[in-house]
Amino acid sequence: MGSGLAASYTPGVDALRLPVVPAGPRALDAAALGLTAQGDARAHGLFDRYGRAHTYLRISIIEKCNLRCRYCMPAEGVPLLPREDLLTFEEIERLAALFVGLGVRKIRVTGGEPLVRRDVDDLIARLGRLKALGLHRLAMTSNALLLKQHIPAMRAAGLDAVNLSLDTLRPDRFRAITLRDGCEETIDAIRTAAAAGFEKVKVNAVVMAGVNDDELVDLARAFARDLPVDVRYIEYMPFEGNHWGEALKMFPAAAIRARLEEQLELIPTGFDETAAMYRVPGFLGSIGIISSMTEPFCATCSRTRLTADGHFRWCLLDEGELDLRGPLRDGATDGDLAGLIEEGLRRKKPGHAPADELLSVQKAAGPGGARSMIRIGG
Ligand code: SF4
Repeated sequence: MGSGLAASYTPGVDALRLPVVPAGPRALDAAALGLTAQGDARAHGLFDRYGRAHTYLRISIIEKCNLRCRYCMPAEGVPLLPREDLLTFEEIERLAALFVGLGVRKIRVTGGEPLVRRDVDDLIARLGRLKALGLHRLAMTSNALLLKQHIPAMRAAGLDAVNLSLDTLRPDRFRAITLRDGCEETIDAIRTAAAAGFEKVKVNAVVMAGVNDDELVDLARAFARDLPVDVRYIEYMPFEGNHWGEALKMFPAAAIRARLEEQLELIPTGFDETAAMYRVPGFLGSIGIISSMTEPFCATCSRTRLTADGHFRWCLLDEGELDLRGPLRDGATDGDLAGLIEEGLRRKKPGHAPADELLSVQKAAGPGGARSMIRIGG
């Protein structure tokens, strides 16, 4: 656990024999992002070489999902992790406590779909208890299909916020995008969550040209007009096997903004983590636009990730990762694990490579060689 960390912490991880990470794509230049190298990465405070503090950890707790979204997973699906490869709740709790001890203040539980993991309420309760160690906010991303039955237990356990995914209001389109039914149930669950007393409820829609770009205003009106819900539009990003540039095409942030402004007055209110935020007169909720590809926000990146099989990833769009599960199960101390986290942050680049380079690296890795979105946790 976090206690005793300072005493046991020793920089350097040679003894744990780090795997060699293959050269990735060329990253955006530090100078282009206004970043300056400030010495080596440090685990305490989770600073990287550019002085970015990583206070936000996204923990994927399962790779399985009850939907099959084409932009998230390859058509052939992803091989299921053997059960023993998944971090147990005890292991997730220990690593999460370590990250909180090192400076993480916000944890988001993701998947796959986190609610398909058995006894997930128990895990949320374990993570909720980390608030006593310094965690400020506990959030979850979900497709909302199974959400309603979990809301009371999760609110009681300290879940503060939910990001709920929905790309369309039309059942036929929902089926075409997710290859499953459930559009009405998702809409109903979002409305229930909006009334459940969460600090924040957000609806996330991935926008794809020719697929749902004609529904942007409808989505805003459905949730942000009469409910305290933020509707956020996300540029579609390239991941292993997700049809980037083939059947599915990006609808850039500037076009999203323009499409919304055809019918709504957007008043800029600044940035919320990754989203450019807007107020709309007469709306209870806000509008956000996340421009990961066309206007990257890497210069202020504060996020790292822990995969369901216990790998530490320091960037969503970089294939680099380090295994924490193996050392954890081999008896690594908190200090050893902090050293690995520090090594990952040392490898973090200033920004991500352009889409075509990301794709060619993913293709070169071959099927299953790079992680699809569903295997990273978004
Ligand atoms: S691409 Fe990487 S560096 Fe950029 S914001 Fe995302 S996680 Fe951070």
